[in-house]
Amino acid sequence: MKFFDIDERIIEASEKAMALCADKLREIDEIQEYHQIKMIKAFQRAGVRESYFCASTGYGYDDFGRDALDRVYAFAFDAEDALVRHNFVSGTHALTVALFGVLRPNDTVHCVTGMPYDTIRSAIGLEGNYPGSLRDFNISFEMTELKSDGTVDFEQAERDLAEKQPKMVYIQRSRGYSLRATLTWREIKKICDIAKRVSPKSVIMLDNCYGEFVEKVEPLTIGVDLMAGSLIKNPGGGIAPTGGYIAGKKELVEMCAYRLTTPGTGKEIGATLGVNREMFMGAYHAPHVTGEALKTAVFASALFELLGFETTPKYSDSRGDIIQLIMLGDEKKLISFCGGIQSGSAVDSFVQPMPSDMPGYESQVIMAAGAFTLGSSIELSADAPLREPYAVWMQGGLNFHGGKLGIMLAADRVLKDMQM
Ligand SMILES: *Cc1c(COP(=O)(O)O)cnc(C)c1O
Repeated sequence: MKFFDIDERIIEASEKAMALCADKLREIDEIQEYHQIKMIKAFQRAGVRESYFCASTGYGYDDFGRDALDRVYAFAFDAEDALVRHNFVSGTHALTVALFGVLRPNDTVHCVTGMPYDTIRSAIGLEGNYPGSLRDFNISFEMTELKSDGTVDFEQAERDLAEKQPKMVYIQRSRGYSLRATLTWREIKKICDIAKRVSPKSVIMLDNCYGEFVEKVEPLTIGVDLMAGSLIKNPGGGIAPTGGYIAGKKELVEMCAYRLTTPGTGKEIGATLGVNREMFMGAYHAPHVTGEALKTAVFASALFELLGFETTPKYSDSRGDIIQLIMLGDEKKLISFCGGIQSGSAVDSFVQPMPSDMPGYESQVIMAAGAFTLGSSIELSADAPLREPYAVWMQGGLNFHGGKLGIMLAADRVLKDMQM
């Protein structure tokens, strides 16, 4: 390779990997095209025009761009309505606003996908005992554990929901930083069918982080009532500088808007300060960028399988999110892998990621990210706790060529370790 020094064996293995995943890449290409075309229709239906890119200040009254952006995402997600705002500070914030928007004291939220993602736990009151958590407001949390193989225990979930009739059924689509598999639309539908049969009054809420535009079927068309996610993952297209979204049934989205701003003002206010243009550009690019990240994940899975590592998902598996796990087996290879990913970045490529202590984690963690947007994980990035099974979670890639380079450089460094 002309510009980077990569071992001949990695280049050969990469060519083989490309051949192995050719069908999968074509399949992803087709999903990209589907969502891209749908997105353009969404823009047209929302009447997006150049004047919508203007900045609003103060209360942000009559910010037609902000309103149109909501309509764009609503169409893209098959939602009745959406709330898309740069002032959601993270995905966790959007999810938390959705929880507090819908739940009231003495209600119960019942999670059917085991323990939720790390950062949600403190909002629920499962960790840290912070003031203002759901628990602090006397809202209970219960869950159905996953089966020992990490899949949803549908039978137990059915019994639990039938017995408890919770106000909200909570589903987490992505594996997050656990070893369990990500849910595809089929499992999400199965949960919704069960919930609607045995606990028809429950609101079905989905943590959709990392799942947007991965499959053609939208969660909101198969029974989910409300979902939320982060704009510095898939749906911001690598361009939204910050933010999150909530989408779903109109009355539920409205309740969330009353929680985000104030009861009474809801969606009507909120200055956009000039971010509208980037938000629209992010939405426009999101279907394509998500596909590029998916292609990068599939390629990584195929390449590391050829190099003798266990990967999950496999390159040929159906996917419900953009996350790829590779079991590297020891600490040295984790550090090398992350160093390789970093060395392929356009930004901060000269940095060597090092393991360090992180609040909330028991073991040290190493992270690789050379990103235009701080913390953005739709850009090629990798994280790994330094503990058994020494797995690295990688995701993102704004375009497949750059993503593939990062993976090849990571493989190159891991190969060099194996020879020593
Ligand atoms: C990323 C993520 C979130 C939200 O994380 P933020 O860092 O707050 O944006 C929530 N749930 C899952 C499964 C995630 O992957």
